[in-house]
Amino acid sequence: MTALAESLQHRLDVSLAFFYPDTCQVCRAEHATVKNGYVGARCRSQVRFIEPPYCERCGLPYAGDFTAPFECANCCEMELYFSSARSAVAAHNVVREVVHRYKYQRALWFEPFLTNLFLHKALPVLRRQDWDFIVPVPLHAVKHREREFNQAERLAAHLSAASGIPLTSKWLRRIKPTATQTLLTRQQRAANMRGAFAVRPGVRLDGERVILVDDVFTTGATTSACAEVLQAAGSGDVCVWTVARGL
Ligand SMILES: [Zn+2]
Ligand SMILES: [Zn+2]
Repeated sequence: MTALAESLQHRLDVSLAFFYPDTCQVCRAEHATVKNGYVGARCRSQVRFIEPPYCERCGLPYAGDFTAPFECANCCEMELYFSSARSAVAAHNVVREVVHRYKYQRALWFEPFLTNLFLHKALPVLRRQDWDFIVPVPLHAVKHREREFNQAERLAAHLSAASGIPLTSKWLRRIKPTATQTLLTRQQRAANMRGAFAVRPGVRLDGERVILVDDVFTTGATTSACAEVLQAAGSGDVCVWTVARGL
């Protein structure tokens, strides 16, 4: 952990110990502590990790026996700019609720829970590979001011601290404020993301291999739009890691 992250974590621990009893903040009916992000063992047992076999490109899991690598129908149809996308867990019940409250209600005490899930799956894979930088999906400046923190950036910072791969938030920015995508179709999401991101003026990349980090992967429209502008600026391969994935 960086000194800043440590001091933030310490302040968070102190204020939480004051305001919250050791109770699961999802069901409020079992024991939980600051260390496990105030999610108790019973709620945690509902978490579904994403396991192979899955689509080589977008990481969509499939039931059944697949011996050869394959791409799902969506990936065959869509032009995606990342080489692969992987997520730690399904964005189901407990995870869906925790991500929502973390992101929109600033429920920062859940951060250790999400970080643990993320690192548990991402670290063993990334340690076998060769990546140069971690880049969080940026928020638009207006939204960043409103929300006061970028959840993707915080998760990316934890991944960077644990993996030793440097993080940079200086390359990418979100230049178009995009409305919530929840009700949009796959095609509408892709259209909505067109022109949403740009590299900062003066940024020229030289083949750097990038891990793009976001909280949730849905259709890949957002992360693919980021990968597209990074590659146009000269990056090498871009892979995507998110904590959760819509299924
Ligand atoms: Zn619980
Ligand atoms: Zn796919």
